[in-house]
Amino acid sequence: MTVHTRPTLAALPAYAPGRTVPGAVKLASNEMSFPPLPSVAAAIADAVGRGAAGINRYPDNSSAELTKALAAHVGADPTHVAVGCGSVALLQQLVLATCMQGDPVLFGWRSFEAYPIVTQVAGGRPVTVPNTDSHALDLTALAAAVTPQTRLVFVCTPNNPTGTVVHRAELTAFLDAVPQDVLVVLDEAYREFVTDPDSPDGVEFALARSNVAVLRTMSKAYGLAGLRVGYAVADPEVITALQKVALPFAVNALAQAAALASLTAADELAARCASVVVERQRVTAELRGAGFEVPTSQANFIWLPLRQESAEFAAHCERGRVIVRPFSDATGGVRVTIGSPEENEQFLAAARSWPGLAPR
Ligand code: PMP
Repeated sequence: MTVHTRPTLAALPAYAPGRTVPGAVKLASNEMSFPPLPSVAAAIADAVGRGAAGINRYPDNSSAELTKALAAHVGADPTHVAVGCGSVALLQQLVLATCMQGDPVLFGWRSFEAYPIVTQVAGGRPVTVPNTDSHALDLTALAAAVTPQTRLVFVCTPNNPTGTVVHRAELTAFLDAVPQDVLVVLDEAYREFVTDPDSPDGVEFALARSNVAVLRTMSKAYGLAGLRVGYAVADPEVITALQKVALPFAVNALAQAAALASLTAADELAARCASVVVERQRVTAELRGAGFEVPTSQANFIWLPLRQESAEFAAHCERGRVIVRPFSDATGGVRVTIGSPEENEQFLAAARSWPGLAPR
């Protein structure tokens, strides 16, 4: 006899993480290639070594000290900030907090591949709107797709996997058009890599509008993907709602200590992001020069809209000992993380030898 599970699970794709292949360069999960900063590693070791006040105890469930530090970091009151087990947990908490069974959750496609999954796990129904021909989110079409039943809209900027950002005027017009009782989640996981001056800081909108939540993460620019810390900035009512649906003690003690230490190393981390931006520009120029279409990216990855050739391109890169991330459906492409200069060179060598390139 098999147990009864929710019928919706049968149709749910499992989240497919970027693959790790021994001996190959991994450019598949948008991680930083840098090792932890010494100050952050020391803070983690210190948190382990606190004797009887250490990891034998539960962590601070409210992450109070970290919440206060993050609030100061973004210029908000701590009542506007919540911490979660990665921003992916906060994404799911926001759906849980806003949706009844079957309520529509709207987002552009392509976008972050976890959106349809967390939406359905939390009981919502994904509704997607195609991106523009230039691979950007279509905010006009998204606004037009909002119905009286819509509870939440995900706006990913920079958009994973296409790297595009939304601009101030279009975002303002979009937020003006969306009813006040629909939560708009600005997913800014890659904010620290943005250099486009017309790409607004979502926190400004989250503090001015009660239906806007911003999500950020320590997994990317802060290099703490293995520890799982993300945070939300939103109206205190939204913060309270998402805390009600959180798993208790979701953010562990080592993660809290590491995130706190990272916030005091802002300059060193900003220098790392700046070096990623330099490499992003170099890799983009090299690929365009070789004949690839590469949308302008504001994140720590680039997007190659290779559609049905995506899986074959990824297999070609793997033969060159580089793991990239193919999405092999009709709107598909290949997402490639910007790594160290040496890693990027290894990828570029593989890309240049791609037999699918048009003769020039
Ligand atoms: N949002 C976006 C757009 C992402 O790309 C990711 C990670 N791939 C996340 C959220 C989740 O990141 P984390 O849970 O590590 O904070």
